[in-house]
Amino acid sequence: MTRVALIAHDEKKPDLLEFARAHEAQLRAYDLIATGTTGKRLMEGTDLEVERKESGPLGGDLMIGSEIAEGKLDGVVFLRDPLRAQPHEPDISALLRICDVHDTALATNLASAEFLIEGLAE
Ligand code: PGA
Repeated sequence: MTRVALIAHDEKKPDLLEFARAHEAQLRAYDLIATGTTGKRLMEGTDLEVERKESGPLGGDLMIGSEIAEGKLDGVVFLRDPLRAQPHEPDISALLRICDVHDTALATNLASAEFLIEGLAE
């Protein structure tokens, strides 16, 4: 089954929620995982089932990165906040890096997230 990770920094969580609502039918067909708070918001705001990892600052990004290293994930939508420094920046960089190491599809903004979701449907 297609497995996708959804992550958003606080300022971007409303955007991710809107994105998930717009693509809810499609996302329902996928195995979804998310960092802690993102996953909570998604489950509150949609009917999607989401496997929640730790919150990002507590290691959630690394947990998702480890799934990529294990070849378990098909894509990552990570709406980052480019305007604010995050306390766990090294973990975020590690997640982006491991996507590149394993050539895992990664979208860090809404425009590319649209392509990613469309591409996974094919
Ligand atoms: P959160 O983590 O979903 O728990 O807020 C996201 C992140 O900051 O990487």
